[in-house]
Amino acid sequence: MEEEAPSRISVAVRCRPLSENERSNMVHSICRVMDRRLVILLDPGASAANDYLRQDKSKEKRFAFDQAFGSDVDTQTLFQATAEPLIKSVLQGYNATVFAYGSTGAGKTFTMIGTPSEPGIMFRSVEEIFRGGDILSCSVSCSFVEVYNENLRDLGSSDIREGMLDLREDPVTGSYVAGITEIQAESVQEVMDLLQHGNGRRTTEPTAMNVTSSRSHAVLQVRVERRQGSGTLMGKLSMIDLAGSERASETKNSGVRLLEGANINRSLLALGNCINALASGSHFVPYRDSKLTRLLKDSLGGNCRTVMVANVSPSHLSYEDTLNTLKYANRAKNI
Ligand code: ADP
Ligand code: MG
Repeated sequence: MEEEAPSRISVAVRCRPLSENERSNMVHSICRVMDRRLVILLDPGASAANDYLRQDKSKEKRFAFDQAFGSDVDTQTLFQATAEPLIKSVLQGYNATVFAYGSTGAGKTFTMIGTPSEPGIMFRSVEEIFRGGDILSCSVSCSFVEVYNENLRDLGSSDIREGMLDLREDPVTGSYVAGITEIQAESVQEVMDLLQHGNGRRTTEPTAMNVTSSRSHAVLQVRVERRQGSGTLMGKLSMIDLAGSERASETKNSGVRLLEGANINRSLLALGNCINALASGSHFVPYRDSKLTRLLKDSLGGNCRTVMVANVSPSHLSYEDTLNTLKYANRAKNI
C-alpha cells in the first residue's frame, strides 16, 4: 500500500422534491441548486410565487459544496458521483465511509436504504463491489447494526437482543461488534433483504407508532477480502443512515450544554466533533466519545475516504433545519 489514497471528506448536498402532500398544502420550495455545486436557500418569508427574479436576494443564503444535487437528480446519478468512486479504494484494501446527515424527513433513508424499486446507496455500493471485484478471489460480508440510545442492536438478526452487543477493538482488523450477524453475501438479493428487513426492525419511538425513530442510526458495514498474490487485501465500506439532526441543533440553539440531557444524541454530536477535528487538522480526534464513532474509528481520517451526503427538504417550513444542515455541511468541507 505505497500509494496514498486521498484522505479527505467530500461533501455533497441533496435536496429532495416536495411531496404531493406538501404541494397540495401550499408548501413552497425555497431551495435552489445551481451548477451542480451551489445551494441557494431563499428567504422563507418571501412570496410563494415561484419567481426567482422577484425574490428578496438580500435574505438568501448561498453555499458552495463539492457537489450539490437538486430534486430532479435520481439516486443512481447521486451514487455514481459520490459513493461509486470509493468502491475502487475499498477493493484495494482501504476503508471508506459514506453517511447521510440531515433532519427527519429530509431524505436520509431514501438516499441510503431506499426501496426495492429505487434502491439507495447501500444496495448500489454492494452491487458495485460484486461487479468490480473478481468473484473467485473476493469474499464479501455484511453486517447491519443500529445505534440507539448508545446501545447496539443487530438488525441482521430476527432475535433482537437490545444492549447485548459489545463493541471491541482488534489491533489488526479494527473495531467490530462481537456476536453480530455477518452475512456472507453471494447475491445482491440477500443484501436487499437484509436492508429491507433490517430497516423494518429499527427502533420506533413510543410516541410515533410505526414511524422509524428519528434517533436511530443504521450502520451497514461491508467487509471485502480479496486474495492478491500471496496476500489478502481487506477493505471495509461503512454506510450510515444517521439519526435526525434536528435535536442536536435544537439543543445547541437553547444553549444546553453538550452531552447532557435526555434528548441529546451523543453519537451524532460525537461524529460532528470528529469530523470537525479531522477538518481542522487536529491531532486529537475524539473517537472514544460515542458508540458510533468508536465503531467508525478505523474508517474515518487517515487513509480513509469519507463522503457526507447532507440531505435537505426544500420546504419553506423547514428553513431552520435546512439552514442548520447546510452550515454543518459547510464546516465539514476542506479537509
Ligand atoms: P429521513 O430518513 O431523512 O427522515 P426519508 O428518507 O424517510 O427521510 O424521506 C422522507 C419522505 O420523502 C419519504 O416519503 C421519502 O420517500 C421521500 N423522499 C425523500 N427523498 C426523496 C427523493 N429524492 N425523491 C423522492 N422522494 C423522496
Ligand atoms: Mg429515516
